[in-house]
Amino acid sequence: MHRYECGNCQQVSNPFVLRNSAERYGQEHRDERHGGMHPFNEAIVSGGGRMPQPGEWRVFVLFGVLILLGLATKAL
Ligand SMILES: [Zn+2]
Repeated sequence: MHRYECGNCQQVSNPFVLRNSAERYGQEHRDERHGGMHPFNEAIVSGGGRMPQPGEWRVFVLFGVLILLGLATKAL
């Protein structure tokens, strides 16, 4: 997830899935509040929405294998 942060206004946008959307939000914010100028301490902050951790991937793989096994046994 990506957020646009304006340190000047102490404002943080809602999280966007796409970095592009956060950047567009930033552009709109700049146009609206800063006359199109880049304010101090503005940033696109990424993170928050997290990728599955390595341990969790194993669970996904295990589920995948179980589903495949289930399909395979049905097919036989
Ligand atoms: Zn601002």
